Amino acid sequence: MRIVFVASEAVPWAKTGGLADVAGALPEALAALGHDVTLILPHYRVVDRVAPAPQSTSWRYQVPLGGGHVEGGVSIGRTPHGTVRVLFIDQPQFFDRDGIYSAHGADYPDNPARFLFFSRAAIEAMRLADVRPDIIHVNDWHTGILPVYLREFYSSCPEVGHAAVVMTIHNMAYQGRYGQWVVPLAELPWSLFNWRTLEYHGQANFLKAGLASAQKITTVSPTYSKEIQTPEYGHGLDSMLRHREMDLAGIVNGVDTREWNPGRDPNIPSHYDISNFTEGKAACKAVFQKQLGLPIRPELPMLAQIGRLDSQKGWDLLLPVAHEFLRRGDSQFVILGTGAWHYQEALASLERQYPNQIRSLMQFSSPLAHLIEAAADLFLMPSLYEPCGLNQIYSQIYGAIPIVRRTGGLADTVTDPFDATTDKPATGIVFDHPDQAGLRWAIDRGLKIWRDKPVRDQMIRAGMSKDWSWQRSAEDYITVYKSAIKALESV
Ligand code: ADP
Repeated sequence: MRIVFVASEAVPWAKTGGLADVAGALPEALAALGHDVTLILPHYRVVDRVAPAPQSTSWRYQVPLGGGHVEGGVSIGRTPHGTVRVLFIDQPQFFDRDGIYSAHGADYPDNPARFLFFSRAAIEAMRLADVRPDIIHVNDWHTGILPVYLREFYSSCPEVGHAAVVMTIHNMAYQGRYGQWVVPLAELPWSLFNWRTLEYHGQANFLKAGLASAQKITTVSPTYSKEIQTPEYGHGLDSMLRHREMDLAGIVNGVDTREWNPGRDPNIPSHYDISNFTEGKAACKAVFQKQLGLPIRPELPMLAQIGRLDSQKGWDLLLPVAHEFLRRGDSQFVILGTGAWHYQEALASLERQYPNQIRSLMQFSSPLAHLIEAAADLFLMPSLYEPCGLNQIYSQIYGAIPIVRRTGGLADTVTDPFDATTDKPATGIVFDHPDQAGLRWAIDRGLKIWRDKPVRDQMIRAGMSKDWSWQRSAEDYITVYKSAIKALESV
């Protein structure tokens, strides 16, 4: 199968969240199954910081945009393991900037133009590179208009016209909603500005347009695929997704186990595996406590959280509950995150009050994320919703017991000892109610387990021995691709 994967970010070039992890790993996993895979990304400034820099080509094309034409180019690279060709869309005015989506906390006002351009340029790049895809796999709102362009302007084009489209939702909350002015900017006919395709309550909605136009839709966990069909989690698109229920699948993300492996992770001071995690984690924790200037006290559990400082991640529960546990004085907390100013302030204030117990590292640092997973004893993810979530998986691989809310991918990837519906071994603590009492109860249970070494070890062993490789997910995507091709043929 010839597959083109189009995304607005991918590891190792550009990352703000889980989409980049998926876009970095899934194409290689598909290639490992014997498919011909091309990845298409914007040529951001950060791309050139990763060696080897992509090679520019003489390929040029014009994208109609807002009544004019914008010229673009293509540079070519390969994924780190060499199995996937990467086409970088060159357009320095749009992409040669410091940020990916934003600068100084504010989204770039021309994001609609940037990603409309990217979507159409991606099709042009496929043509110029003569990829002739069977499948175009688009991701999130940034590439939502691509299937609309494909159907509207390229359906009789021999290079791309026969491709089926699969769209993956990585987070329903981000839809790319803008005013009606997007329609002429996109150079789309007003006839598409209707409730079936592009229009949503008087606005243009990129995600909706993609979902309406793709042959098949996936999201990143089975539970989230059900949740988004409800008003509570559907962010306004639930009825549309209910309508397309038969075309919607949930596939849990895998993990790039070459990058996330405590047995050979270059970011951690002591390597370990399932046979010696007690010693390995203790050594990592001691080094990290020293590095942070926290008291080196192996008997205190270290609780960690890594991620965006966003209400989605449950910070309104976590901050007051963390405060209660800090007051007790028998635990340490480490937070790594960037995001909302008021959460940063609250964390900084906790650090001033409890300088021997908490550190808030307000930065984006992948090496630190690895080190925290190795050093932490318990990992907190009380998300209000979570499409898949990756850190609770990394935690299991690194022997940090996850404490998660039963939602989305968290529910699908962590097994609680009280769960009577499964005979799978327990790998963490799962709580239901997104309130402080629920989280307090869950942390208390986590701490009890951590203090009971035989039970703790059993749980850690169960988490560390699970198979998180991408191969399983990639096989599920192939099944979806085949059904998308069939669906297109039967139209
Ligand atoms: P989301 O995509 O909603 O942000 P995920 O858990 O799916 O959440 O993925 C987030 C990814 O970004 C993970 O790989 C996580 O380790 C990483 N990440 C988030 N914040 C940071 C940070 N401050 N420093 C390093 N890595 C981070």
